[in-house]
Amino acid sequence: MHKYQNYIDGSWVGTHSGRTFENRNPADCEDLIGVFQDSTVEDVESAVAAAARAYERWRLVPAPRRAEVLLAAAQLIATRKDELARDMTREMGKVLEETRGDVQEAIDMTLFMAGEGRRLYGQTVPSELRDKFAMSLRQPLGVCSVITPWNFPMAIPSWKIAPALVCGNTVVFKPATLTPLSAVNFVKILEEAGIPAGVVNLVTGGPDVGTRMSTHDEVKVVSFTGSTTVGRTVSQNAAPGFKKVHLEMGGKNVVMIMDDAKIDLAVEGCLWGGFGTSGQRCTAASRVVVHERVYEAFMREFVARAKSLRVGNGLDDRTQMGPSVSQSQLETVMKYVAIGQKEGATLVTGGHRLDKGPHARGWFHEPTIFGDVDPKMRIAQEEIFGPVVSVMRCRSLEDAIAIGNGVAYGLSASIYTQDINKAFAAMRDIYTGIFYVNAPTIGAEVHLPFGGTKATGNGHREAGTAALDVFSEWKSIYVDFSGKLQRAQIDT
Ligand code: NAD
Repeated sequence: MHKYQNYIDGSWVGTHSGRTFENRNPADCEDLIGVFQDSTVEDVESAVAAAARAYERWRLVPAPRRAEVLLAAAQLIATRKDELARDMTREMGKVLEETRGDVQEAIDMTLFMAGEGRRLYGQTVPSELRDKFAMSLRQPLGVCSVITPWNFPMAIPSWKIAPALVCGNTVVFKPATLTPLSAVNFVKILEEAGIPAGVVNLVTGGPDVGTRMSTHDEVKVVSFTGSTTVGRTVSQNAAPGFKKVHLEMGGKNVVMIMDDAKIDLAVEGCLWGGFGTSGQRCTAASRVVVHERVYEAFMREFVARAKSLRVGNGLDDRTQMGPSVSQSQLETVMKYVAIGQKEGATLVTGGHRLDKGPHARGWFHEPTIFGDVDPKMRIAQEEIFGPVVSVMRCRSLEDAIAIGNGVAYGLSASIYTQDINKAFAAMRDIYTGIFYVNAPTIGAEVHLPFGGTKATGNGHREAGTAALDVFSEWKSIYVDFSGKLQRAQIDT
């Protein structure tokens, strides 16, 4: 059994408490992956102190040089893509094809941000006064707390850490307790790529660690991805210190299928969007709204295909859907299946835990579809985070859009139609951060902003150059070379 350490000030060290926690494979609970540090607030103090010291040097390293470390890291991740993906599948269950995609996203983001090291563009503008120069530039903020969930164990940390570093900040990173191995793997690669001591620090552990990372005076940015409930707590904890808080939270995403849609294509999209990562994506297509004229035709094919999905260990190449990440996540899924039935929705397929034969030692659940769902039902309103899709009927595009917008969240939405007018109207009227035409609610690329509205986010975005706005602040600079006092808005 392997014991993994925290990474603080350039050294791999144990927690002050001496306590550890176990990490087990959700497809086979007898498979112990290793034990990790169950850290305390004292470990956060050490990590923040190291990051604050390192900041004074790192902020002065020219951005193109900082970017070289990221480039080296991206290359190392690429050479180890397969082994990193296998570790990830083993610790959180999604199938290898998807964990390879997760690692690829970390490569893409790290490369993108390495490129930004030679840009980080500001503005130069003409001054309103003669012999005066006006410009703006991005400056780093200092120590950034990075708190991440388990469903994209390498991609999401890279979305935060790479832009934080290229902007000149230093980082204290706490991954979810369900996926510490991928976090260790990522930080080891940064170390190997030449990140100086203290610039990135890893502290594994639970809510106490995250709470201290949200309140510490030396922390200037808290970048959090996770549930809306915890996001709200993080926001409240960080508010008294006026920290910059970047929140990416839950989703209840909708696919709208119009009566002119290509049904085969929509079915493919809903399978991938609804059951990929066992429905445990923030962008999962957990709601499907189908025009009443094609509802029966869509359901026939969708249900038949969902029934035929092969559920199993994600390390087996034939598996199409892995387990839920943990016992508690599986219990949430089962709880919502019961709620849906009680609310009067029709359980069309699935609805049961799988615990026999090859599924006996894991947290498996059947792909599940509810039909005849009322948009007000809890299964159509609340994030389930499991392989459960709620299908509703609509009578028109306007009806579909009203249902689509009628939830607390606003991450992603999609429409299947062959009518360009409908596509553009939906694109305008759906209030989400991400929108797709003739594709499911997932499939974001790293060079466009990623994030959501309403209870999904607080106005910031990750990815693309939008991420630089989280991890830098604008400084406007005026240089007067007239040799006399020139008064803005007064002298002409
Ligand atoms: P979670 O909210 O339970 O945990 C997220 C992280 O916060 C973990 O590292 C956890 O240990 C930490 N944490 C827990 N309590 C804390 C506290 N009081 N203070 C600070 N940190 C604390 O979420 P999860 O179960 O790991 O992930 C699933 C959720 O993440 C879903 O709601 C999903 O929609 C969301 N998610 C959102 C996006 C997005 O970009 N919008 C992406 C992926 C996942």
